[in-house]
Amino acid sequence: MSRVVYVNGLYKRYDQALVHAEDRGFQFADAVYEVIEVNGGCLVDATRHLDRLERSLGEIGMLPPMSRASLLTVIGNVVRRNGVYDGLVYLQVSRGAGPRDFAFPSNGRPTVVVIARRQSRSAFLAKAAKGISIVTMPDIRWRRCDIKTVMLLPACLAKNAAAAKGAGEAWFVDEKGLVTEGASSNAWIVTEDGALVTRHLDERILGGITRATLKDVAAAEGLTIVERPFTPSEARRAREAFITSATNTVMPVVAIDGDPVGAGKPGHIAEKLRLSFHHGAEFLDA
Ligand code: PMP
Repeated sequence: MSRVVYVNGLYKRYDQALVHAEDRGFQFADAVYEVIEVNGGCLVDATRHLDRLERSLGEIGMLPPMSRASLLTVIGNVVRRNGVYDGLVYLQVSRGAGPRDFAFPSNGRPTVVVIARRQSRSAFLAKAAKGISIVTMPDIRWRRCDIKTVMLLPACLAKNAAAAKGAGEAWFVDEKGLVTEGASSNAWIVTEDGALVTRHLDERILGGITRATLKDVAAAEGLTIVERPFTPSEARRAREAFITSATNTVMPVVAIDGDPVGAGKPGHIAEKLRLSFHHGAEFLDA
């Protein structure tokens, strides 16, 4: 099936889906985005994702480019036209194109791009069965990581450095020696007494949608959730560790900086949460 990408009102063939050379997303990272899981042809937690998109836009002084209903129609069209049953939707809104100038254009038109991509469920399950390794590195990002901008060069550098060491994700560590979050995920540990620990929300981390839904799921299962930072050494000694993100849901962490976490294999609590996660999520027909 030929792939179709939505760009500013048009559904274009993948190889013809272009944005302007002076798009502010391209020149200034003046853009925000969302990644939404597609599961069985449904959008997972679309309401929370679109709430966060509106918040990100608001934080950089932009209005939503279209109504929520229109955006959902576009997303649904892209998902269906690409035959995506299991996969993800990538949605980006930039402040648009204009002569390169730091000043925001007064009459700019935002650029809206929606891409849908299939992801193999069996590959995901195989990855989750093994778990991933983490390497930690200094958090060199800016102080507004709560805004989901496309300013992802630190994440790219971190993920490539992690991959070079055979790890599946990097965890950033702040100047106090505390884990902030993953390069593209939130970081969690399970303490000896079975409590879930994840850093509190502030401007140093992205408020993950998977994190929010998992808190609901874990609370419904009677698990204790503590929102506080932890160090890499506490994580290495934890009973379990895992990451959350829309594309990974709950992914067990089996090693940190070369040291095994727990038994060095996916933990029971992470596994249980991975299996129950979708029962607590909102499903919307795409
Ligand atoms: N933190 C960062 C830095 C991320 O890029 C992501 C993934 N977008 C997350 C956390 C997890 O967010 P979500 O659960 O909404 O995918």
